[in-house]
Amino acid sequence: MVGGPGAGKGTQAAALAKRLGLAHVASGDLFRRHLRQGTELGRQAAKYMERGSLVPDDLTITMIEQRLGEADAAEGVILDGFPRTVAQAEALDALLHRRGQGLDRVIFFDVSRDELLRRLTGRRICRRCGHAFHLVSAPPKVAGVCDHCGGELYQREDDAEGTVGRRLDVYQTQTAPLLDYYKRRGLLVRVDGEGPMAQVADSVKKAVREPVAS
Ligand code: AMP
Repeated sequence: MVGGPGAGKGTQAAALAKRLGLAHVASGDLFRRHLRQGTELGRQAAKYMERGSLVPDDLTITMIEQRLGEADAAEGVILDGFPRTVAQAEALDALLHRRGQGLDRVIFFDVSRDELLRRLTGRRICRRCGHAFHLVSAPPKVAGVCDHCGGELYQREDDAEGTVGRRLDVYQTQTAPLLDYYKRRGLLVRVDGEGPMAQVADSVKKAVREPVAS
């Protein structure tokens, strides 16, 4: 799943993974887990994440390689937020090749910069279950409290206004070139990511079923 920060990759990837019975591998979540667990990788990644920059490719690729080596990834995974650079995409190709695997589809969530900005700055996440709310378009029933598990809602440090602009620039310069990379390989399927969540979910289902138009 490729798209700007806040494009809906996480929500859709989780739903698709559940439906297909595959593991959901989200690089941002993996970094945040390393951070919580206080690992060396988490400590190194934090410096970049706080600023809204990308974590260096070598650290990111090592982390993904480890994750893909775990038992639940053997049958395939839904990758969310990785790769984010052409170098990562090349490393992924090599890694999958070594494992006798390959990419079936690359789903691109097309969302305008203004909409990404609106989504990210209003996003609030449950500390306990990870569910995402939006202060305006999907507010919780009780302010600051998760509807699903009663957990506390918080704003990710990198969703604060100052860092969001930087993340959007990073997406434009470092990640958007991936679209061409995958288009040339005939793997890219574009999904309009601006509609209601159920509509986007339908488009994702279709994108997974239908052959990629060349
Ligand atoms: P996300 O949760 O996907 O928005 O990612 C949060 C942050 O984790 C990003 O702003 C980056 O600092 C870092 N990150 C996540 N995925 C990658 C990746 N594939 N390459 C480099 N940095 C990443």
